[in-house]
Amino acid sequence: MYGLSDEDLAIQSRARSFADELIPFEVQAEMDSGELPPDVTAGHAKRAQELGLHSTNMPTELGGGGCSMLQVVLVQEQMGRVTNALGWVAATPPSWLPPIATPYQLEQFVRPAIAGQREECYAITEEGAGSDVAGLQATARRDGEEYVLNGVKWHVTSYNSADFAFFQGVLADGPHAGEHAMFLVDLPSPGVTVLRNPAYSHTISHHHPIVEFADVRVPASHLIGAEGDGMTFAYEWFRFERLMVAARCLGAAERLTSEMTTFAKERQVSGRPISEFGTVAAMLADSLTELFAARSLVYETARGIDRGHDVKIAHAQCSMAKLYASEMAGRVADRAVQVFAGRGYMRENVAERFYRELRVERIWEGTSEVQRAIIAAQMTKRGPAVLA
Ligand SMILES: Cc1cc2nc3c(=O)[nH]c(=O)nc-3n(C[C@H](O)[C@H](O)[C@H](O)COP(=O)(O)OP(=O)(O)OC[C@H]3O[C@@H](n4cnc5c(N)ncnc54)[C@H](O)[C@@H]3O)c2cc1C
Repeated sequence: MYGLSDEDLAIQSRARSFADELIPFEVQAEMDSGELPPDVTAGHAKRAQELGLHSTNMPTELGGGGCSMLQVVLVQEQMGRVTNALGWVAATPPSWLPPIATPYQLEQFVRPAIAGQREECYAITEEGAGSDVAGLQATARRDGEEYVLNGVKWHVTSYNSADFAFFQGVLADGPHAGEHAMFLVDLPSPGVTVLRNPAYSHTISHHHPIVEFADVRVPASHLIGAEGDGMTFAYEWFRFERLMVAARCLGAAERLTSEMTTFAKERQVSGRPISEFGTVAAMLADSLTELFAARSLVYETARGIDRGHDVKIAHAQCSMAKLYASEMAGRVADRAVQVFAGRGYMRENVAERFYRELRVERIWEGTSEVQRAIIAAQMTKRGPAVLA
């Protein structure tokens, strides 16, 4: 199905087997605040590297997998079958960075990230600037051969395990004053402190603290691209990540659909499997139908990028993929809890965990409302026909 090549099927199968290796650790992670023993996590990270599932999106000349976008999607889809973010060991470092990174940045940040020796986090969102990234208040001021960064960033995912942060701020002075710039900040660095580490709905080892940057000095060599380029990079990151969110939602929905079907065939009520009750059967049928539609959309979006689609079309299609796949997965998780019923409310059940975990897929990397706004804007500018 889906016209996958032998090469596509091979990497998909490797990723699927790896996901099956991770699944038995889910409940342990769930019951232990998302944590597994460090040697187990290190073993998983090593396996991801050995299997060629880490950095699939990065160029081969830098040590990455050099995979097509469709293959990157196929791998992330399988990682999405696993709860508690255990699949995040098959990381996709920032693929927007190599084309514009300096030789110094390639050696210090990009190559080590691809090798799994360094990990990044993104410090963009602020209390008053989430959907409206353009409204950031954080500042970057040039001071000789350094920049001085100030601001308070919210929801900085993976800050607790990251070795460096992407910091986006508004240039305080100079020819590009008022425009955005992106910087690489080593972690830890003087002036970078966690103000608060709130608890979130999911149970994963990656935290999302509120982080203050107070007079943090970085060398000018840590500016990414040119002054004023900050928003361009943010958009490139969003486009890629939205497609990855969509891919992982496919995997989650597949796992849920499969597990609820097995349960519905086995569970007998009044001497009949519950799959024979029309209202239960409808939940199974709707879930698979929507998964099929979402998968077709996500794969075609990835193929369009591989064919070199116009970036604006790709941007709108990634929004459509994320919007539909994340909302589809949310509906499937809700139905799965209903099919499992009492069992589906237990944290040891995959449906309960995905029910909580998938909620954020409609929020991060741009909310569903923001995705709809992006799609509608492109429809009115270019006409619906070129987008779908
Ligand atoms: C678990 C988690 C991890 C995250 N990780 C990171 C991270 O690593 N780095 C990072 O920088 N950020 C991160 N974020 C932030 C995330 O990207 C933002 O939460 C998201 O973009 C929404 O912004 P907001 O929460 O400020 O919502 P708001 O912008 O306050 O939106 C509030 C409501 O208004 C609606 N709304 C806003 N604008 C529009 C519009 N134009 N049209 C219609 N409706 C609109 C929204 O859809 C929403 O319903 C993370 C968030 C979470 C929850």
